[in-house]
Amino acid sequence: MQNIRRIYKTGPEALTVLDGAALSIQRGEIVALVAPSGAGKSTLLHLAGLLEKPDAGTVIIDGEDAGALPDSARTDIRLRKIGFVYQFHHLLPEFTALENIALPQMIAGRVEAQADRRSMELLEKFGLTARAGHLPGKLSGGEKQRVAIARALANNPALLLADEPTGNLDVATANTVFAELLRVVKSENVAAIIATHNPDLALRMDRQIRLQDGRLV
Ligand code: ADP
Ligand code: MG
Repeated sequence: MQNIRRIYKTGPEALTVLDGAALSIQRGEIVALVAPSGAGKSTLLHLAGLLEKPDAGTVIIDGEDAGALPDSARTDIRLRKIGFVYQFHHLLPEFTALENIALPQMIAGRVEAQADRRSMELLEKFGLTARAGHLPGKLSGGEKQRVAIARALANNPALLLADEPTGNLDVATANTVFAELLRVVKSENVAAIIATHNPDLALRMDRQIRLQDGRLV
């Protein structure tokens, strides 16, 4: 991300959330995005994930300048190269854990057998092999969030973006899920940006980036 500016114009006054934000991240690296609530963490992740466009600046993913691309190409990059994890799991309730992880792969063109194999591989990494056939309603909070992380990694993305991924879990569960997230992300060799306002979690990542007055330091 180079020189990113994002200004929200809703009421009479414009709100400058990002102004000159820059960030570079490599595969295999886990970066903590740390800032208090309202500072612009989610905004930054939405821009990095091509869900929003900056008012100025450039987002380059895997050597490709995403700002110059039409929406269809941005959607394609999102599907193939970017995984998202939110605070709430957003699993599809009528599909099993395995199916939730297989669906984005089939949308990206993998055949079912291949998608299922990859889904089982990820479920195994999270110790959830025995839960493959369960609907989200039959999973605990921590298990649902593990499945959501597995789904985000399903298409072997270059970049994983997580927005307070353990923010909805109790402290003990958050700790375990977070440790697993770090371990699996490392083993998958993706670049990861994980937003948190929890300094203890931030310390466990490779690098900490702070959002301050619209810039990243
Ligand atoms: P964080 O994730 O760090 O809590 P956000 O990125 O959600 O922060 O929000 C940063 C600021 O931008 C907040 O003041 C928020 O109210 C404002 N904001 C976020 N999204 C919008 C939007 N779509 N329109 C107007 N203001 C927004
Ligand atoms: Mg947020």
